[in-house]
Amino acid sequence: MINVVLNSHCIRLLRSELLIAGSNEIGGVMAAEQVGDGSFIVVDLSVQRNGTSSHFVRDPVPHREFIRSFHERMGNQPERFNYLGEWHSHPNYLATPSDEDFSQMQKLVEDEEQNSTFLALMVVKLNMGKLLRGSIYGFRPGCRFVRGQLQGIEEGAVEEEYVPLTLSFKRH
Ligand SMILES: [Zn+2]
Repeated sequence: MINVVLNSHCIRLLRSELLIAGSNEIGGVMAAEQVGDGSFIVVDLSVQRNGTSSHFVRDPVPHREFIRSFHERMGNQPERFNYLGEWHSHPNYLATPSDEDFSQMQKLVEDEEQNSTFLALMVVKLNMGKLLRGSIYGFRPGCRFVRGQLQGIEEGAVEEEYVPLTLSFKRH
């Protein structure tokens, strides 16, 4: 079981960026503090704003720099503060990964160029009340993904996206 909590800074940043982006997808990487086995607090996020209404393609270069400077700010303690994974928005779909998202993340966690043995993918959107709604999934090399629990540090700040069982893993 993985448990991911967004801190207040990330909640504010995501809400304002999602409002600005409107119907276009945005995304980036998550920098987190590990607070227990499978338990993380996302303390900062990078944001890339060049997606379309149905697609977001990550550009790894600025995110690598973001993570490098995150390590520096946290005094280089990678076992505690590290890159947790990727995030992007689905303003026009359910805030759960598409089939393509699942296979891209699996490829990323199995890529020998990166050294994480665990990566997470968060998909978010704004709900009707302009609050965050989303889901988080964990990926490991050679394993099937697992859905985790996504929360905000303030209770009620993040709503979990609902996945109807019959539609699981079959969208866009
Ligand atoms: Zn997606």
